[in-house]
Parts: sequence; C-alpha cells; structure tokens
Amino acid sequence: MSFIPSTSAILNSADPDVGRLVGEEFDRQQTTLQLIASENFVSEAVLAASGTVLTNKYSEGYPGRRYYGGNQIVDQVEDLARERLKQLFGAEHANVQPHAGANANLAAYMALIEPGDTVLAMKLDHGGHLTHGSPANVTSKIWRFVDYGLTPAADDGSGERIDFNQVRDRAIAERPKLIVAGATAYSRTIDARIFREIADEVGALLMFDAAHPAGLIAGGAHPSPVGIADVVTFTTHKTLRGPRGGAILSSAEFAKKVDSAIFPGLQGGPLEHAIAAKAVAFGEALRPEFSVYAHQIVANAKVLAAALSAEGFRLVAGGTDNHIVLVDLRTFDAALTGKEAQEVLDRAGITCNRNTIPDDPRSPFVTSGLRFGTPAMTTTGMGVPEMEHVAQLIARTLRHRTDDAQIAATRAEVAELCRGFQPYGTH
Ligand SMILES: *Cc1c(COP(=O)(O)O)cnc(C)c1O
Repeated sequence: MSFIPSTSAILNSADPDVGRLVGEEFDRQQTTLQLIASENFVSEAVLAASGTVLTNKYSEGYPGRRYYGGNQIVDQVEDLARERLKQLFGAEHANVQPHAGANANLAAYMALIEPGDTVLAMKLDHGGHLTHGSPANVTSKIWRFVDYGLTPAADDGSGERIDFNQVRDRAIAERPKLIVAGATAYSRTIDARIFREIADEVGALLMFDAAHPAGLIAGGAHPSPVGIADVVTFTTHKTLRGPRGGAILSSAEFAKKVDSAIFPGLQGGPLEHAIAAKAVAFGEALRPEFSVYAHQIVANAKVLAAALSAEGFRLVAGGTDNHIVLVDLRTFDAALTGKEAQEVLDRAGITCNRNTIPDDPRSPFVTSGLRFGTPAMTTTGMGVPEMEHVAQLIARTLRHRTDDAQIAATRAEVAELCRGFQPYGTH
C-alpha cells in the first residue's frame, strides 16, 4: 500500500528553512551522546507513522462514538492502538489519546477525585514531577497536594529510598483521596503493592505515574503496577520508545471516567497520526526483542553508575535498579554546580540534564546534581564497554572544564564513538 512518505527531499525543497533545521537536529542526534533519561530514539516505522495523512482527520470522541463523519478507518487505527496497549500491560482499559504525560496525569486526577480534594504525592525535590502538585503547575491550583519524601542519605548507599513509614504517617494524618506513586528522578524500583496497602488503610485511591519506567515494565524489567493501582498513567516517548505522547490504563471500573476526563473534559480532537505511531511502538514492544532491550537498559545503567562512582561521583540512592543514574556532584568537586556541569558537557557533545538531589542546598535552576539515563544509548546498540567509556568522558570533561582544547578533543572522541552507534544509520 502506498501513501505520501515524509522524506527529507520533500521538506528540503518545499521549505528549506525548516528542512535545514531538521537536518541540523538530525546531525546533532547522530553525532552526540543522548544521556537524557526521558529521551529515546524511535524506530523509522514510528517516525513514518507520525508523518502521515492521519494528521488531517478530526475524530473527537472514541471509536464507534465520534462527533464527525469519515472515521471508519481512524476508528480501526485507534482500536488497534488500544488493543495492543491492553495486551502489552494486561490492562482492562486503555486510553491512547493524551497528548502528553502531563495531560494523562491531569485527566487521571479529574477522573478519580473532585477539585479541592487532598492528594499525597512525592516531594518534587526528592524526585516527584511538576504535575504532582508543583506550586508552578495547575495541579496545585485545583487540588490540595501534600507530600512524602525519601529516607536520609546513608554512607552505605541504603538511604534515599521512598520512606514508606512517612507515606503511611502522612496518609493517616492527611486522609488523602488519592495517593500518587511514581517519580521523574528516582533510580530505584517503586513497589506499587506497598502503596496499595497504605491507600487501602486510609481509603484512598492509587494512581501510578509510570512515565519513566513504562518501557521497563512492558519489557519485564520493572514490576508492573497494572492491576494494583486504580489508574496507571505514562508517557509513550521515554523508555517505551514511542512517539511523544501519553496514555492511561485503568480497571474497567474507571474506564468511563478516564475516557470522559480526556474527552470532552480536557482535550479536543485526538492526534490520530500520533496514535498510529503509538500503535506501531506498542507492536514493537510486544516483540520478544523489546524485553531484551529493556533488560539491557538496566544492565547499562548499572555499569554507568558503577563507573561514575569509580570516578568519584556520589550516586544518589547508592546506585540504580532502572534506567536512571542520579549523581551528586559535590563529592567530585564541591564548587561544581549542576548547571555548569550540564553546560560544559553539552560543549563536549554529552547531552544530559542538571537535577536537584534530595534536599539540594542549591536552587532548582542551579542544582548540585546531574541525571543520566541509558534508554537512548541502549537503542543504538551501546553496551557495557561503551558505558565505561562514557563515564570516563564525563569525568574527564568535568575535571578539565576550563580547558577548551580538552573539551574539543572530547567532542571529537564522542563523535567517533557515536559513528559506531548511529540510531538512523547513514543517510
Ligand atoms: C515526563 C513525566 C511526565 C510528563 O510527561 P510530558 O509528556 O512531558 O508531559 C509526567 N510524570 C512523570 C513522572 C514524568 O517523568
């Protein structure tokens, strides 16, 4: 079957300005290291589905219940995505329309609780997400968020874990209607069952925000919260390696509430080209190779963590069980901030993000930490030797951060390393 392909030739001739910028970004992604824990490289099939005529179609509503005509085929696309997603996670209900993880979370709150209700979620500077009640986010203006945090850091690395005694104490004291499990910068396994016990003790509902580990869960490299939490939200573009977007899973009990929270509650017409790309990504995640990939992400993160620790960085939570490595820069160099480290690494072709560490003495704009992740590099085929090499490149760049010649040399070495691991080959 043929349809108009989205090729660089079309874009370059029709709009050279946009074509040139996309080309430059393509080169950046192919020649520098992508260590941002929330990023990945989608397959060419996912890219192809994203750039299709499905973007032309209005399809407000759900398959079989649309507000516009002409949705006979789009209905099949969305059903395919929903069925694959339910199969992937063993879920009773799936909604694939959220435009992003933030929308999925907002809709989940709308489905489960009333404005003004209390929600217990992870402290933002301990790893919680903006949509878990940040004062700057709309969620905090609609609901009353209270928080739990991590246990104190310990010399043997056993600290900085979710403090379940605190979760229980706060839940008993605050009587939340909803408890949120899940984080954006937490390198350890999150056990939904402990949250479920606490939620049941206080009569709260449980939402699990799996934005980060969704792909690890799909591949069997992280325990699944599906069937334990009432609602599971996630992004499709992080470890799950799909197009930019969100999704919501729930029990049959909350299906109707979740669907009406997304539409007409929060969004208008769904992005069916993105939903087609989600279907492709879910199909890829259903294959046995995806489980191998998910386990390799974790194996790579453990090697990266150990190698960074050997270079003198303190690992928050003492290491990692997932794809995230959070480092505290202060043991490496007390004067080095997360902001400066991120900027210097960027110049060396090593892309990562600064991150607060638990109880960070510096502001969220400056920070004392860096967050690294292995999903994107693992997609390119990098393994244990490359992770050790990457840790050396990071340490060398930060150790000689005022030496421009050294930074240029590292950038060249990074490009050489990337040449052997190109996500999209040579075009
Ligand atoms: C990334 C993330 C989100 C939001 O996803 P967007 O697609 O950026 O809106 C929500 N929750 C957590 C825990 C995340 O890490």
